[in-house]
Amino acid sequence: MRMDKDLRIQELEKELEESHKKREMLEKQLSDYDKNQAQLKEEIYQLKGLIYSSTALITFLKGPDYRIEFANSPIIKVWGKGDDVVGKPLFEVIPEVREQGIQDYLDQVYYKGEPYHAQSLPIEHNVNGEPVKSYFDFSYMPQYNSEGKIVGVGVIAQDVTQQATLHQKVRKSEMEFRGLVNFMPHKISIADADGNSVFYNKSWLDYSGMTMDEFLDSHWTDIIHPDHKEKVEAELEECLSSGKTLDLELKVKDKNGDYKWHLCRAIAMKDDGIITSWISSSTEIQKLKEEEQRKEDFLKLVSHELKTPVTSIKGYVQLLQSTLNGSENKITKPYLYRIEDQVERLIRLISEMLDLSRIEQNELELNIEEFSLNEHVEHIIEDISYTHKDVQIELEHLCECDVKADKDRIGQVIINFITNALKYSPETKRVQVKVFHEQNNNVAVSVKDFGIGIEKKDLNRIFNRFYRVSAENEKTYAGFGIGLYLSNEIIERHNGKIFVDSEPGVGSEFTFVLPLNQN
Ligand code: ADP
Repeated sequence: MRMDKDLRIQELEKELEESHKKREMLEKQLSDYDKNQAQLKEEIYQLKGLIYSSTALITFLKGPDYRIEFANSPIIKVWGKGDDVVGKPLFEVIPEVREQGIQDYLDQVYYKGEPYHAQSLPIEHNVNGEPVKSYFDFSYMPQYNSEGKIVGVGVIAQDVTQQATLHQKVRKSEMEFRGLVNFMPHKISIADADGNSVFYNKSWLDYSGMTMDEFLDSHWTDIIHPDHKEKVEAELEECLSSGKTLDLELKVKDKNGDYKWHLCRAIAMKDDGIITSWISSSTEIQKLKEEEQRKEDFLKLVSHELKTPVTSIKGYVQLLQSTLNGSENKITKPYLYRIEDQVERLIRLISEMLDLSRIEQNELELNIEEFSLNEHVEHIIEDISYTHKDVQIELEHLCECDVKADKDRIGQVIINFITNALKYSPETKRVQVKVFHEQNNNVAVSVKDFGIGIEKKDLNRIFNRFYRVSAENEKTYAGFGIGLYLSNEIIERHNGKIFVDSEPGVGSEFTFVLPLNQN
């Protein structure tokens, strides 16, 4: 009996111990569960914070009537129906979007489980009673319960109205630009930074007879006249590497194979100083060129026809002068000198005109001989002083040298410099001429006056054909604007250079430099 009792006590103690262990285990499980719950709560809290603070538009629509289970404040703001929307079916809140495809998209997700994504989708809705058109990037995703059954649709969207409007504006302006560029009679093209064409306007396509693809596949220099190709390619290369503007006159082949003159300009487009593309405009100048040619031919003809009678007038005048020499006829003599002076001017003008057309047709030939530059300058000054009694021409030889050049042509340049110096010095008829050595084995002749001078902006242009400084001067000082153009051409053909230094109201100094020892 005693034994039974002890055994029973032992059993009870064991049971007690086990139930202690069980209790400890249960307490541990309970504490773990509490911890998990707290962690879960924390995580949900963080997730909600993320959703609420997101700028994306987020909502969860539950059940077949798409009841708003949850919506963050950005989407509530976009709907514009007030804050009291949670718990209501979506199409009760914003009925106006149902017929814009939204119901179909939601049904596709809810009933078929197919997610739906859209970009820049236009939606018209009423915000605070006002109709508004906005653009959205959308993602509709099916939401499942723990048994894998679809219970609703999750929506994440982004309002991209600003970008879409900007995009539309860019597209519109691009369309307008294309319209404008195609409407223009000028030939416009665009090339990339390396000069590879990427666009030709309609005028180019009409002229070349090629389609855009054909034109882009070919190289545009293929339609340049063979005589101009080398020069164009060299200029092009220089412009591409330096970024300087291309400015050329060249002949371009049309669809019939005829070459026509064009004035072609290309300008570099830069972003932050880096060339991004080239825009070029080519204008047909064929008619202008033909007219110019006709004008030149006419000038040449007139000058030729005038030369013979004017030269014979000069001969008769000189004959009359010599027959009157020694006679007492004081009335006729001065008139004959005046006639001679005027005829001289006429002859000079005619030969300038002829030279001009010779230069244009590349027919100006140089007769090179060796002569003393100092003596040549001296003789010219003597001749001019003989006919211009009231002037003072000072000559200074800072070097003595012989040159190999065309004597008459160099004389023509010196005469042009001196007669201009006298012509454009109405007050002081004083001119200083110098012959001197220039660095690098060059010789120079300078002609300095104390006349009206030339403004800085005109200094480069006075060497252009027919360029005269101002209309006002045209009336006061007779001339045609040919002399300096010819002088520059003559000196360049001798591999020399012309310089001018001038100050308005103070005077000008024209200098030409010739290389010595050239063959
Ligand atoms: P032209 O004297 O016949 O007009 P040029 O070609 O010799 O033609 O000269 C071109 C222009 O340069 C002149 O019209 C004048 O305006 C200017 N020019 C030339 N030389 C001088 C000078 N010494 N002083 C001031 N202006 C000058």
